[in-house]
Amino acid sequence: TQQRPHSARLYEEALKHIVGGVNSPSRSFKAVGGGAPVFMQRASGAHFWDVDNNRYIDYLAAYGPVITGHAHPHITEAIIRAAQNGTLYGTPTELEIKLALMLKEAIPSMDKVRFVNSGTEAVMTTIRVARAYTGRSKIIKFAGCYHGHSDLVLVAAGSGPSTLGIPDSAGVPVSIASEVITVPYNDLDSLRTALERWGDEVAAVMVEPIVGNFGMVMPKPGFLEELCRLTRAAGALVIYDEVISAFRFHYGSSQTYAAFPDHAAIGPDLTALGKIIGGGLPIGAYGGRKNIMEQVAPLGPAYQAGTMAGNPASISAGIACLEVLKTPGAYEQMERLAVRLTQGIQAAADEHGVALTINRIRGAFSTHFCDHPVTNYEEAQDTDSEQFAEFFRLMLDQGVCLAPSKYEAWFLTTAHTDEDIDNTVTAAAKAFSA
Ligand code: PMP
Repeated sequence: TQQRPHSARLYEEALKHIVGGVNSPSRSFKAVGGGAPVFMQRASGAHFWDVDNNRYIDYLAAYGPVITGHAHPHITEAIIRAAQNGTLYGTPTELEIKLALMLKEAIPSMDKVRFVNSGTEAVMTTIRVARAYTGRSKIIKFAGCYHGHSDLVLVAAGSGPSTLGIPDSAGVPVSIASEVITVPYNDLDSLRTALERWGDEVAAVMVEPIVGNFGMVMPKPGFLEELCRLTRAAGALVIYDEVISAFRFHYGSSQTYAAFPDHAAIGPDLTALGKIIGGGLPIGAYGGRKNIMEQVAPLGPAYQAGTMAGNPASISAGIACLEVLKTPGAYEQMERLAVRLTQGIQAAADEHGVALTINRIRGAFSTHFCDHPVTNYEEAQDTDSEQFAEFFRLMLDQGVCLAPSKYEAWFLTTAHTDEDIDNTVTAAAKAFSA
């Protein structure tokens, strides 16, 4: 079992100066019983090392962006080249056109793109653009889907299906929450009811087409197609939040994923991107149909700007990351390892009588301590938090790093190997037996 005295000391110190000792609440160990999070100091490929020099196999992948593994040479080179040429100009660059073209080629519904600095910004702006385009103000979203921390999307469901939202965070005005209607994911009847009641006030329906924020959850067959149809019939726009899902399962987005053969023809009006498209540096992007995107300044009346937006370092890292992902077999390799890993974990859980549901989508999966399927947020909530917390700590102590939340996915990267998988399955078996 690992000892982490230096992490414990740094946490004490961090608590004095940084709120909660962390710069994102998801990094705190609050959901897994508290205590010091692990302070990492370097990373390479599928591994990182903490300040006490313990080594970990990384399934966090920094919550998604690090899909090529850490310090991938092609991305590192691109970042160094960008740094040597100056990291920020405040002018347009040719690089931005290159990444925009790569995104457009991979995501057919994006005629025009705009780069921003985070997924939060991307989502926030798609909502503004949808409101500008439709002249309406309400948004429909799905319970448990996370869309960043802007006011409008930090709203949870009220009681019962399809109700107006209540703020999920202090500081979000009730007046803003009342512009948001939350319905259960994978539930077309609730969406229909909401659109019947509020349809002519709704600017957009916002969805994670493949969910990554209450586990990995696939849309039921026909869910997205009907969502698009109903939304358009109400005169509202469809926004896909693909901050997690784009380039995760194949080279492209959910709208071109082979699991939805008919879906490319429908697609969303606007798409929000982030994470992978920045290759591990800060980025976000949004895009969509030409006539809608032309609402944005300087062409149209919807304002959005950014000092850091499209900076050469992030754009260069993003281009390099997508180039690595174009390598033939990259996604097949991640999927093959994820299949081996999930089969090994499930077998170990079964052997030790631990109820476990695994949702795997190609190279990403989530583990739910329950004996029922997980297809929506309610089912994801109804899983054993204490068992997850114990599992999380037992894995960490054996050098396997997961996100400290029962809702987060495990991400394979192009850097994981069969040896990592074998070691992880062995660790899981020990954890279940404990
Ligand atoms: N949308 C989705 C689907 C996300 O998963 C996230 C981040 N986990 C965001 C938006 C927000 O992105 P960021 O943290 O870059 O602001």
